[in-house]
Amino acid sequence: MEFELIARHFTRAAPGAVLGVGDDCALLAPSPGMQLAVSSDMLLEGRHFSPQDSPAGLGHKSLAVNLSDLAAMGATPRWATLAIALPAADDAWLTAFARGFFRMANQHGIELVGGDTTRGALTISITVIGEVPPSQALLREGARAGDDVWVSGVIGSAALALAYRQGRLFMEQIDAAKVLPALYLPTPRIELGIALRGVASSAIDISDGLLADLGHILERSNVGAKLEFATLPTLPVAQAYLHEPVARDCMLAGGDDYELCFTAPVSRRDAVAAAAQSAGVAVTRIGRITAEPGLAVVDANGQALHFDRTGYDHFDE
Ligand code: ADP
Ligand code: MG
Repeated sequence: MEFELIARHFTRAAPGAVLGVGDDCALLAPSPGMQLAVSSDMLLEGRHFSPQDSPAGLGHKSLAVNLSDLAAMGATPRWATLAIALPAADDAWLTAFARGFFRMANQHGIELVGGDTTRGALTISITVIGEVPPSQALLREGARAGDDVWVSGVIGSAALALAYRQGRLFMEQIDAAKVLPALYLPTPRIELGIALRGVASSAIDISDGLLADLGHILERSNVGAKLEFATLPTLPVAQAYLHEPVARDCMLAGGDDYELCFTAPVSRRDAVAAAAQSAGVAVTRIGRITAEPGLAVVDANGQALHFDRTGYDHFDE
């Protein structure tokens, strides 16, 4: 049963591998001179997704969140392995999951070369392997005082969708429909990460929230930052809800965006714009790196907003 399941759902041609699914190990030959970038992310039912979620969406998202780590490193995706625990071998579920997974894989030229399949509470653990030229990976530690802080795309949408789904934020249905795709079908910013090699001084993907993830860059780089709340890019629909503290929390501390937050010297603004254009994604300057440690967020009047990394703020006071 297990082998049939693997053969049917998870075995695809992998021309970029020496040997793919089917033996004790996959065999991979890295491109000459390239370094390998390797990352794993695990998704648990109840914690990262709910039993009602669409299996195709889950296939998409579980690979997308892993690809996002390669994007944040500036790596080119090559191979993936998939370890999956399933309560039952539900053929329709597996077919839909594989459809979502391989659509995302094909979009980004990543090949499934192995994995493990076992019975158990639904758990999806993926390892991705990418390639990056030596010393060109985008690390968290390169931010310098005076650098601009940038984000790609828009932020807060996935968190707004989650707050809506959990009944913590009322949204008109027509508005909710505009943010829900961000939660269920995130886009890893692979092309942007690659285009930022040699341009960005540091980068991270926003999985836990802007403040928390930018906080990792600041810590590793031994610097601080000052952000302007009004410059944070949102979907137009989000603006109508920002008077709600919950919605503002979504902007600063909402996870699951999978946008890139990165820094670059002011002298590289044109290069950042060119990278964004070549990748076909908008980027927005949201603040500056400071020599003094700490993360400040100011409003349009330069007034400091109070918050912690879980996003609680005091806009109303
Ligand atoms: P072993 O017992 O040697 O670990 P398995 O029986 O677990 O081998 O797996 C057989 C083959 O199928 C291996 O090549 C393995 O990498 C692959 N495989 C198992 N599960 C998956 C999966 N969910 N997705 C892709 N490949 C898988
Ligand atoms: Mg095994």
